[in-house]
Amino acid sequence: MDYDEVLENYDPVLGLEVHVELSTHTKMFCGCPVAFGAEPNTQVCPTCLGLPGSLPVVNETGVESAIRIGLALNCEIAEWCRFARKNYFYPDMPKNFQTSQYDEPIAFNGWLDVELEDGSTVRVEIERAHMEEDTGKSLHVGGSTGRIHGADFSLLDYNRAGVPLIEIVTKPITGTRERAPEVARAYVTALRDLLRALEVSDVRMDQGSLRCDANVSLMPRGTTEFGTRTETKNVNSLRSVERAVRYEMTRQAAVLASGGTIRQETRHFDESTGSTSAGRAKETSEDYRYFPEPDLVPIAPSRQWVEDLRSTLPEMPSARRKRIQAEWNLSDLELRDLLNLGAVDVIAATVAEGASPAEARAWWVSHLAQEANSRGVELDELPISPRAVADVIKLVADGLLTNKLARSVVEGVLAGEGSPAEVVEQRGLKVVSDESALTAAVDEALAAQPDVLEKIRSGKVQAAGAIVGAVMKATKGQADAKRVRELILERSGV
Ligand code: ADP
Ligand code: MG
Ligand code: ZN
Repeated sequence: MDYDEVLENYDPVLGLEVHVELSTHTKMFCGCPVAFGAEPNTQVCPTCLGLPGSLPVVNETGVESAIRIGLALNCEIAEWCRFARKNYFYPDMPKNFQTSQYDEPIAFNGWLDVELEDGSTVRVEIERAHMEEDTGKSLHVGGSTGRIHGADFSLLDYNRAGVPLIEIVTKPITGTRERAPEVARAYVTALRDLLRALEVSDVRMDQGSLRCDANVSLMPRGTTEFGTRTETKNVNSLRSVERAVRYEMTRQAAVLASGGTIRQETRHFDESTGSTSAGRAKETSEDYRYFPEPDLVPIAPSRQWVEDLRSTLPEMPSARRKRIQAEWNLSDLELRDLLNLGAVDVIAATVAEGASPAEARAWWVSHLAQEANSRGVELDELPISPRAVADVIKLVADGLLTNKLARSVVEGVLAGEGSPAEVVEQRGLKVVSDESALTAAVDEALAAQPDVLEKIRSGKVQAAGAIVGAVMKATKGQADAKRVRELILERSGV
């Protein structure tokens, strides 16, 4: 069924569950370090291994981050809440229960405004944000898919077990129609930017520190009762969020249109095909036999603490975008281009190092964006710092580099030859600003092309271009073209 046909017949409803790993120093309930990529099973202790007799202790910074996230999402913060045990068996969860929160989350009833491509805003309501812990990781070895079926054996790494997680759950998102996939992506993008601004997580979807499950259902157009939802897991990039929602809408519409029913289940998103496949039938909450965690005291954040944390909130990304747009004098389109390029932060950092917004922008969106593109990396992953870019801009402004030389300097920095000053030194890229040397080069070029000199004298000033070219060539591009032009006119007597 094609997408237009889906929308003629059905209305989508979305629900997004985002798990974010906090970048605290230690785990949620023990003192083990939180570190990505460590040797397997080196960041563990009796508590996060679930050994009998061990007892958890709550990480205060974890609670603080949860409250700050709740506040940034316009949530109410519970006066009193507690942890709950979510019981299930899974090999990467050594306690056989996950310490989570159930009916008493720390934050609830919030919203996040999400901007779409066309500049319009959709308000996504937040059901709750609660604290929990991550599981370990299973590695299935021997099969072709990396999944357990067909594998010869499995390895378990408990380093991630007990890493603080915040789960942020939206209320059902309705009325988005054809824009449902875009809204899903825009929401996760906005949430990621917000969490990054809060500095509570490194929000790397590729490394699993930000993970999204996308719930999708359809209801016949014109009705209001929600259909049965599926929950697609494993959606590991922003693009995948959009694709997964769109795929599920189309798949479910085909099932419903042919008289079938949707099974409430988890589904698995496959990046390579862009399709989803059935996982396990969805448990109900009874299956988890939740009960209050007896080993941890309840959490009752004082209102004073909550207000203190509110005062630590940074400028929100949407407000920052508006401020930057005004300060840098950008049209909506220009701002959107910078956002799409991921260039705002590096430009802002370059401006903070003393460059003008216009010049900082010119460097990052042209030369450096091309460079990042050809290397297949983000702008902030290029081996050149905003500080170095600001230094190059200053060298040009001070007349020590021409634009052309500046490009060589940047190339040198990108090639790992050192700071701009070092590259200038090593590559010998100083502008020839010695007037007598320049004058001599101009005289020489004029003498070599007497016909051009005649033209200039007879008023055809644009003929000077040929001489400028000759002088630039003679000085290996290290002359200031504007000064050369002035000298040519002077020496030609016009
Ligand atoms: P679960 O325990 O299944 O993970 P959650 O309450 O954590 O359930 O999350 C379910 C998500 O799905 C929420 O974002 C909720 O708003 C959303 N949701 C609930 N019902 C529907 C539905 N019929 N269609 C789409 N989304 C739904
Ligand atoms: Mg959930
Ligand atoms: Zn531990």
